[in-house]
Amino acid sequence: MSDLEEQLIVGFGDIVDRLVATPFGTAAVLRKGKGGPAKLRYTWMRVYDDARKFYGRPLTLLAAESLIDRVSRGDYVLIVTNSHEMDGPPGAAAMARSLVVGLGAIPVIVTDYVEGTKFEKAVPQSCIGAQLIPVSDPEELRGSIWTPYTVLVHRWPEMTVAEAEEAAGRLMDDYAPKAVITVEAVSCNKAGINHGALGGPRNSGDPEEPFVRFNEIIFAAKERGVLTIATGDNGNECGFATIEGILKEHHEFCNDCGCPCGEGIISAAGADIVIPANSSNWACYGIGACLARLLERPEVLHDEYTHNRILLNCANVGIPDGATAMCTPTTDGASHKACVSLVGMLGETVRMSMVELVRESR
Ligand SMILES: [Zn+2]
Repeated sequence: MSDLEEQLIVGFGDIVDRLVATPFGTAAVLRKGKGGPAKLRYTWMRVYDDARKFYGRPLTLLAAESLIDRVSRGDYVLIVTNSHEMDGPPGAAAMARSLVVGLGAIPVIVTDYVEGTKFEKAVPQSCIGAQLIPVSDPEELRGSIWTPYTVLVHRWPEMTVAEAEEAAGRLMDDYAPKAVITVEAVSCNKAGINHGALGGPRNSGDPEEPFVRFNEIIFAAKERGVLTIATGDNGNECGFATIEGILKEHHEFCNDCGCPCGEGIISAAGADIVIPANSSNWACYGIGACLARLLERPEVLHDEYTHNRILLNCANVGIPDGATAMCTPTTDGASHKACVSLVGMLGETVRMSMVELVRESR
């Protein structure tokens, strides 16, 4: 690659990173009703800045380059996400689509839900919005003209630590994934305690307690040398231990969770590449944009109309926005228009980076 090409691609990656790490507007989120504790988003922009320095390359670009490097047609990629809020399922679905359209990969979305509840529909409906066909039987992933756009939804139930370790090992053996991508998969800290964005605890810390445990998937992947990518917006998301120092410097709850465990909210698992973005969903759209640019195929990133459908499909099964607790087609308080506009801007960024602006002279 020539110097100019390298500068163009790094510049492109930085633009995408900044788009997905920058909130629209300045609204604080008041957690416990009017007058409650305000959560500002600016500290998180500083976390992004320091993570960018730590990696020495745009984060969404680094993730896309690593995926292209490792993942070939027909390879499995695990996408790990929650099924109970608007930040997670839409990003996982869009990520799955970019991997299918861009790399011919086979996505397996690993997600927690209780069968028979509305949460069971969050990931499948988001996938349908993203033009993919969700299936629950691995047999439906290959072998017919009806399978190239299928995506497996794999339930990840509450488990003890030992059960989660075994289940994670089985996932690795069954699919031999070439990459694991976590999308707003909130997980336990070093003390085995799971925390919300403003502290915790949500579990007892007893390894025998059945609980949704995602860290074991990253541990199993790393043991086998599988590429791991984490997206998040708070530090309690699975994979964020890699930037622990940065998180502790800027984020009060990463330092002090306010609960008796005293360990802070940071996930105990450390992914190879960590992307702190305005929301985990947005980081996925950023990776999709970088895949589109590197593959020189703009259609690898979904468009605004598809994005509208993804968000509506997820919200319409009754999934709440994590910031407002209303079931709106929004993400962490970022409005519907902001989310759709972001995808529009990413798409134009891809297209504008693939043209030459030629000023002719006579
Ligand atoms: Zn704690």
